[in-house]
Amino acid sequence: MSFFQHWSLVPNALWHWPDFTPREIASRGDGSLLIAPAALDRLQALREALRRPVIVTSAYRDPVHNARVGGAPLSRHKSGDAFDLSLRGHDRAALLEAARASGFTGFGFYSTFLHVDCGPTREWGDKRWTS
Ligand SMILES: [Zn+2]
Repeated sequence: MSFFQHWSLVPNALWHWPDFTPREIASRGDGSLLIAPAALDRLQALREALRRPVIVTSAYRDPVHNARVGGAPLSRHKSGDAFDLSLRGHDRAALLEAARASGFTGFGFYSTFLHVDCGPTREWGDKRWTS
């Protein structure tokens, strides 16, 4: 795990997830970034399995930003190992299946995005999402 006060400070040599940028993964609040390599490896694996763009709408959140957007106090987003993935351009079932195969273990089902994380195995949200 590496923490940077701002995504622009991340050395190129440290970043090895070619389909994503530090800016995309950084907090939408103060621009800080906590890099969780194992989680980013799963995200990159998911991208490669899908062979199409994966739009991350929220990844790392600094604590202030997490509170502002109504995130759970212990949200995995604060640990840098959670990603909200836009459903645009994706078949929902295929996205979920690929996310599971890529090693993600927590899933939150929403109308416009799928939350994936590396926390304890669990699911929440509208289960009709998958039917
Ligand atoms: Zn989320």
